[in-house]
Amino acid sequence: MSRLDLVLFHAPSVYDFRERFAMYGPISDVIPSTPIFEMYPLGFVSMVGYLEQHGYHARIINLAVKMLRDPRFDVEKLIARLDAEAIGFDLHWLAHAAGSLDLAEMVKKHHPDTPVLLGGLSATYYHEEIAEHFPQVDYILRGDSTEKPLLALMECLEAGRTPEKVENLTWRDPDGRKHVNPLSYVPGDLDELSLDYGEVVKLVVRHRDLEGNLPFESFMDYPFTALLTCKGCMYNCTTCGGSNFAFRHFCNRERPAFKSPEKIVEEMKIISDYFKAPIFLLGDLRQGGQRYAEAILDNIRRESIDNTVTLELFNPVPEGYMEKIARSCESFTMEISPESHDDHVRRLQGKAYTAREMEETIRSALEHGCEKFDVFFMVGLPGQTPESALDSVEYSRRLLERLGRDGRVFPFIAPMAPFLDPGSLAFEHPRRHGYVRLYTTLREHKEALYQPCWKLFLNYRTRWMTRDEIAEATYEAMIRMNALKRELGITEAEKAERVEAGLTLAREIMHKIDGIIASTDSEAERLQRYRELKAEVERANRSTVYAKRELRTPGGAGIRLKGVLKYLLRRAKLIR
Ligand code: SF4
Repeated sequence: MSRLDLVLFHAPSVYDFRERFAMYGPISDVIPSTPIFEMYPLGFVSMVGYLEQHGYHARIINLAVKMLRDPRFDVEKLIARLDAEAIGFDLHWLAHAAGSLDLAEMVKKHHPDTPVLLGGLSATYYHEEIAEHFPQVDYILRGDSTEKPLLALMECLEAGRTPEKVENLTWRDPDGRKHVNPLSYVPGDLDELSLDYGEVVKLVVRHRDLEGNLPFESFMDYPFTALLTCKGCMYNCTTCGGSNFAFRHFCNRERPAFKSPEKIVEEMKIISDYFKAPIFLLGDLRQGGQRYAEAILDNIRRESIDNTVTLELFNPVPEGYMEKIARSCESFTMEISPESHDDHVRRLQGKAYTAREMEETIRSALEHGCEKFDVFFMVGLPGQTPESALDSVEYSRRLLERLGRDGRVFPFIAPMAPFLDPGSLAFEHPRRHGYVRLYTTLREHKEALYQPCWKLFLNYRTRWMTRDEIAEATYEAMIRMNALKRELGITEAEKAERVEAGLTLAREIMHKIDGIIASTDSEAERLQRYRELKAEVERANRSTVYAKRELRTPGGAGIRLKGVLKYLLRRAKLIR
């Protein structure tokens, strides 16, 4: 392997997930990743692109995907052979607290003199604890945008300078003293930072490594792509670590920053060149104002982007805007997260709209040709009892009977798991919002991820539900939702049977794990008895694949040769 300036590793949530016993349950059922969260943050792509623009050679290695795809893939061997000036890990989602930090330790063991970097929202939140208690990490890049500070740090490392002037950096000096540089790089304009999916193709070709660059395991089957339209949020949903409150307090961001409509559509065009796949525009476009949202839609129309556009709605949409979407996008799908059917619970969660207003939006979207409308409910909310969680399924029946007979409306229900986000209002002020925080520090969250069952990962209970009740209500609600979709013909019978069998088995295994824990204090005996459950757990985990397919948009998705050929041609010209 030739020497690189920076390697960005994406770790699985738990490093030894292939050997360790764990019942992950439904923690990743409504996202494209598997339960080991193999999807790397989008920031990896823009960081690599930014460094390359400035003359550094950087690459991504998605260790999690490599481990998933090849049971014999030897991570330690790859790390030992690595030759890089610096090595980085993401700790964006807290679910990687164990995997990223354990693999960083392995890197330090083999390369004690190589600087190890960490970044992401969770690293930002826990930067002081990381600097004080995790000697395997040398530098923590804080904030929601770290491309420029990363470049400045790379320049310091190259020149052998101490990084006291690098913005957003927490670091230790050679005497082990912690330094917290000001979090002053908070860009109001995101256009300088590109999310160019062509960069991923370039890395695949250059390093002849497809798996190491895949955003998630099933990407080649279904290359679902996403673009960030903004950083920060206008809203304050109680349990969200990406809320206005969280960004203000932990990323120093007073208000959201938006990518310009031109830049967003330029990035969409690049995706469209390479992939015939849905493009998920992350963040409700109307956060930037009605004119901003309409300018994006006008540009999509002007550029004739033929990919399905998935639009995220933070609240209901007026008729005129829906018409505009329908006129601008050749094909579009939508999603909204009311979290609960109950207006009161939704209000406690910080969302001010009513179920009736949401239904109007769904009706209007379907009338304007929306191909699929996903509605996400959650278990573990403020004010939500087990009965209320199950009532969200009953509400879904009424919703589907009224609006979803033709199979375009898809309700989902999943637990708030593995964690209530640190930095969210509920995590910071648990009593005020009816929460009890069970883990607070990074070390506690890291330990939680080694537990044998997802229920024990949960870092919270609420005034209305214990962890046991959250887990029971989750399984019961998911089983009922699956039965409902089958009954109404939204899910094929065979698939629904597999999903039900998987959920029922998973619930039984959870009870068996509870029984093992209650029956003995001996860790060795527990491990022995968990091992006897391993085959069953694998069977239960496999069934979630069927449920996940419902997240896909209609129609096929795949790679477009056009973009790849264009890239190869450009490269051939450069070589000549
Ligand atoms: S959940 Fe709420 S606070 Fe969080 S990003 Fe979405 S709208 Fe913003």
